[in-house]
Amino acid sequence: GVGPIGHSVIPIVNKLQDIFAQLGSSSTMDLPQVAVVGSQSSGKSSVLEALVGRDFLPRGTDICTRRPLVLQLIHLPRRSEDGGAEWGEFRHLEGQRFYDFSEIRREIQAETDREAGKNKGVSYNQICLKIFSPNVLNITLVDLPGITKVPVGDQPRDIEASIRTMILSYIKNKSCIILAVSPANADLANSDALQMARIADPDGSRTIGVITKLDIMDRGTDARNFLLGKVIPLKLGYVGVVNRSQEDIDNNRSIIDALAFEERFFRNQPAYQDLSHCCGVPQLAKKLNQILVQHIMNVLPGLKSRINAQLVAVAKEYATYGDVVESKDGKGVLLLNILAKYCEAFSSMVEGKNELSMAE
Ligand code: GDP
Ligand code: MG
Repeated sequence: GVGPIGHSVIPIVNKLQDIFAQLGSSSTMDLPQVAVVGSQSSGKSSVLEALVGRDFLPRGTDICTRRPLVLQLIHLPRRSEDGGAEWGEFRHLEGQRFYDFSEIRREIQAETDREAGKNKGVSYNQICLKIFSPNVLNITLVDLPGITKVPVGDQPRDIEASIRTMILSYIKNKSCIILAVSPANADLANSDALQMARIADPDGSRTIGVITKLDIMDRGTDARNFLLGKVIPLKLGYVGVVNRSQEDIDNNRSIIDALAFEERFFRNQPAYQDLSHCCGVPQLAKKLNQILVQHIMNVLPGLKSRINAQLVAVAKEYATYGDVVESKDGKGVLLLNILAKYCEAFSSMVEGKNELSMAE
């Protein structure tokens, strides 16, 4: 159950977060949230699941995601007693651990029904789920209901406008990375996902285009020009993916199998053979890692100078007392040295891009 998201940066990021936790609330390193947007059934939940590397989200051809799901991944140190166990815990069922991930999915469905009814109703009340695992990075992912145009079941007449408003409330946050998910078997130039992303992030500095369903495009067509950014350019570019079909879901095809199928698909399609840098879930994970590392690089110097300033203040205070005991002061210097070491490690990771490869 190794989640590809952030895998190569887990140890270093978690170490940094530990250090900041020790320093107290004045210095934190919050990673950006990642949210998926797009029309209903475009494959948003499938993409998130593939990134986490576990099966636990409701997916399907009908409206499945009917409440926002805030998924907080929490890194557990690997201890021998629990044998690297992974579990989920809901905010509405605090203290109850779910070790079986298909039970997590059933509880998401049950809790969705409790709040939004059983007849396709949508609620903007969040479901909060924490996943504890030694294989994850401390990061928050948000699965959102998709844009839908024609009200069905218990949905109100203004469903489209109200879903758009709800989505915007998540993705307008400047530190939110937007995964704009568009299915390749629909008209990509009319993508709801890209349209919404552009409203929230007009200069495209935090939007990654994700094109799903490359396996079921009309025969004789491909998404090359789109993936290359020739149709709608995006600064952070596009990644094409192949997730599990409805038949695969019904047959309980595993994530490992699905990733192997995807890999084979891209290897055998002449249209994508020279585009390996923007094809496949592992490439999407890699792109996200690079963005996270860049984010860390950007916030580290500020954190360093803040800690430095604290140290100077403490040292001055001590100077007025004369020669005093060795205390916080010494600890601060130690932390600063550790931090400096990590800054260097990060720089070299970014330079040697190969180290970010998911293949390691
Ligand atoms: P969401 O509504 O955007 O969250 O979409 P889901 O992840 O629930 O997927 C909707 C449907 O599309 C499901 O039946 C999936 O099996 C199917 N699906 C998603 N991605 C792909 C893909 O890349 N290829 C194929 N063939 N089916 C996909
Ligand atoms: Mg969904």
